[in-house]
Amino acid sequence: MRNFEYVRASKIDDALAARAPDAGAVYLAGGTTLLDLIKLDVMRPTRVVDIHRLDLRGVEVLDDGRVRVGAMVTNTELARHAYIQHTYPVLSQALLSGASTQLRNKATTAGNIMQRVRCGYFRDGVSACNKREPGSGCAAVGGLNRNVHAVLGGSSQCFAAHPSDMCVAMAAIGATVRVRGPQGERDIDFHDFHLLPGDTPWKEHVLSDGEIITHVTLDAPLARSRSAYLKLRDRASYQFALASSAAILVVDAGTIRDARLALGGVATKPWRATNAEQVLKGQPASIATFARAAAVAMDGAHSYGQNGFKIALGQQAIVRNLMSLVA
Ligand code: SF4
Repeated sequence: MRNFEYVRASKIDDALAARAPDAGAVYLAGGTTLLDLIKLDVMRPTRVVDIHRLDLRGVEVLDDGRVRVGAMVTNTELARHAYIQHTYPVLSQALLSGASTQLRNKATTAGNIMQRVRCGYFRDGVSACNKREPGSGCAAVGGLNRNVHAVLGGSSQCFAAHPSDMCVAMAAIGATVRVRGPQGERDIDFHDFHLLPGDTPWKEHVLSDGEIITHVTLDAPLARSRSAYLKLRDRASYQFALASSAAILVVDAGTIRDARLALGGVATKPWRATNAEQVLKGQPASIATFARAAAVAMDGAHSYGQNGFKIALGQQAIVRNLMSLVA
């Protein structure tokens, strides 16, 4: 492990000031991604600015029904919050399906949004990897790509799947990310926050240098909706999704009035399937409708070899999850 300078910030302004002069500086929140990658020598910060003591905690229900979640709220706190469990079961279930209890107790809301991919070639520090070392190639093309690689949103430069469960639920719910940086504050629509790899897979999000996520505001829940998260994986705990589905449905007298659908494990960013939502709306809440929507959700999916089974598995995750909401 390489030496780095450690700075603990107790105010946002202090954190911004500590980060600004050092191009090699990074923020440390829960540390569940960063410390791993430092130890693996994949990330090599020259300065670590510890922000986990910033006053960015609390889950606040706003008058208009939206929910404001502090950046440093842990995954456990958010998943166990009574209002979240009651109003956004999809989010609580997604959080509790991720990682382990110990990790959820440390991992933060902002850190979950910012987590890095699980591709083994990225993390081994030596293989060709455009994300870690731009222009070096992608060892996953023709290599091991069964578990944590995407069939949607990839490119020949990179097709590592986004690893978060929480973000898939947030993509379905809809959210706004508030950030603060040297130029002030701004809001980013959650759907615009993460970037597709394209020709620049090292650019994973739209944050500018030095910006900090201060909180996330969830959209108000759809009236009379039900929601659920289904995660399919090789073993029942402590594993990343092969395919997952976050679904929100409003059904009235057997007809789907409104729908939100997002996918995980199969895409390079939290994947909102708006094309499939259009297929669902106004149709009978039946397995035939759900299967049609699932097929549309995987439009444009591309197999990279070992991960081709995810095209069918992703559809099954959608259909099973939607069926659970109308059973
Ligand atoms: Fe690197 Fe992405 Fe290729 Fe994995 S899939 S080796 S992260 S470029």
